[in-house]
Amino acid sequence: MTQAHKYYKIEGDKIVRVKKVCERCGGATYMAEHKDRWTCGKCGFTQYKRGRKFS
Ligand SMILES: [Zn+2]
Repeated sequence: MTQAHKYYKIEGDKIVRVKKVCERCGGATYMAEHKDRWTCGKCGFTQYKRGRKFS
């Protein structure tokens, strides 16, 4: 069973990602979203956003 829909929201005509899985920690660890990056509170991994796709 997937609950992936919980991690997206619709704004107007676009889908906004509201949760991002840490690629180091795996599927159960979500990253905190900041203005220009995501960070993982568990391992400290930081991933910078590219462009404005998810803003
Ligand atoms: Zn992590």
